[in-house]
Amino acid sequence: MRRSVNPRRCVACRRERAPREMLRVVRRPDGQVALDEQGKTSGRGAYVCPDPQCVALCLKRRLLEKSLKCSVPAEVQAKLRAAVNLEECDALPDAAELFEEIKGTLGLARRAGELIVGQDRVLGALSTGQNLFVLLTHDHSVTLKRSIDARTVTTHVLAGVSRLELGQLLGLRQAQIVALPVQSGFAEKIKGLLPEGGNAVE
Ligand SMILES: [Zn+2]
Repeated sequence: MRRSVNPRRCVACRRERAPREMLRVVRRPDGQVALDEQGKTSGRGAYVCPDPQCVALCLKRRLLEKSLKCSVPAEVQAKLRAAVNLEECDALPDAAELFEEIKGTLGLARRAGELIVGQDRVLGALSTGQNLFVLLTHDHSVTLKRSIDARTVTTHVLAGVSRLELGQLLGLRQAQIVALPVQSGFAEKIKGLLPEGGNAVE
């Protein structure tokens, strides 16, 4: 009989994966916190994707501490960084940092009633000829991107941001697309924060 393994949720991106595909930090019954390299240490575990983006985010926001409800020694943090070749200096990759910066603006735009959320509304607004500035999560659907690209709009893919994260910000289960009228001050503000060139497409 094949033993089924419950997926575990990454503390950073909240996506689920098989535990053996993830990094596990464990708080052992004796209170010691360690990186569980064999995946067999007993105790309370917290999981993170073996991805520099996720590791950086979980270290910056102390997500392991929150999950394990105890502090994580610098030595364990260093091991996590090493596991994904993350230098201490690039503690947070650009994409995640960028999302931190535009979060506030997105929230304000939403409260001001200017933010268009979800593919139906965005495509609807585009079909009426509105000129929009569009933001997509990295896990957007290819079909959606194609219909967006078919219009001449400014789009930017938020490289480090998942549907779940964007949804969480907006109080929804998930969201893969939001848009603002190009003439909106909020759109201007966000565009000003985006890296030149990059994956911004005019
Ligand atoms: Zn992750």
